[in-house]
Amino acid sequence: MRNSLGYGYMSTTDKLSNRYQKQNPLTQYPRPPFPRQPQNRPGSVNKMDPEPDHGEDSYVGFGRLKGRKALITGGDSGIGRAAAIAFAREGADVAINYLPSEEQNAQEVIKLIKAEGRIGVAIPGDIVEESFCKELVTTAVGKLGGLDILVNNAGRQTAQKSISDLTTEQFDNTFKVNVYAPFWITKEALTHMGAGASIINTASVQSFDPSSSLLDYAQTKACNVAFTKALAAQVAEKGIRVNAVAPGPFWTPLQSSGGQPQDKIEKFGGSTTLGRPGQPVECAPLYVLLASQEASYITGEVMGITGGEMPY
Ligand code: NAD
Ligand code: MG
Repeated sequence: MRNSLGYGYMSTTDKLSNRYQKQNPLTQYPRPPFPRQPQNRPGSVNKMDPEPDHGEDSYVGFGRLKGRKALITGGDSGIGRAAAIAFAREGADVAINYLPSEEQNAQEVIKLIKAEGRIGVAIPGDIVEESFCKELVTTAVGKLGGLDILVNNAGRQTAQKSISDLTTEQFDNTFKVNVYAPFWITKEALTHMGAGASIINTASVQSFDPSSSLLDYAQTKACNVAFTKALAAQVAEKGIRVNAVAPGPFWTPLQSSGGQPQDKIEKFGGSTTLGRPGQPVECAPLYVLLASQEASYITGEVMGITGGEMPY
């Protein structure tokens, strides 16, 4: 089936927004000020105001991932949800992992994947456990029938003003989710991946330009970059590419559920060159590119998507 642009692959939505029309990026999406909106971690996209755009009604696929099998952690919301929707619209079968408390957001994503005629697999569970990380990969491989794309995207971010407020428990959990889990998941995934496969890690501007209130988080995001580069060099001989995306401020529940203090939510994204936060769908084309064969000469790279804040 062709979409209303006249090309593309099997998009059932076909209610193309103006996302593909020329327009001013400054005014394309909401700008601060935003209302304060505290919610408990891990947060829900349905409690966000304004509502984020993950591509539900705006992302159109062009067949770039036809027949691929993808696993995305943190696929229920935010950047992972945008990647999941885009991958399915590009023709991939997609498994998502998330915390059990995020079942509602996850089911919304599974419904959208299935609406594209693709296989959508929901695998809830806490990735701080090594045994679950292995099980996650084997379940995804079993239900998808293989694995071509791994997106290590789940993340924990909790702002603390001072090192004296940062508990060992938080420090440990941030490292478990952001550093250990991608290591465990990737280690298992590589036993199932072959030439042409792609691994994408979600790093951050924090990897290079840490905020004082994100002492633990920023360190983990720097780890993601080193992991990406070292692993890319290691698995190149197998024909597997490894890259990272380094987003700037994106409008996701990670931020309003403790990732930022509420006074920073009010002006979130305002200090970027474009003066607004990114919407998750604006990340999707980068994940699609890195996952696809069009990125055949791209490995060991960290790609910034920051609204003009330089990640280096
Ligand atoms: P998000 O809250 O929508 O996604 C994060 C997801 O991580 C959650 O949905 C949850 O499913 C998952 N997660 C957290 N702890 C988990 C655990 N213990 N077990 C299993 N899953 C767990 O927020 P997001 O902003 O889309 O975050 C996605 C990634 O983007 C994260 O790695 C984050 O560090 C990174 N990032 C976000 C921003 C931003 O401004 N939003 C900027 C740079 C980088
Ligand atoms: Mg979530």
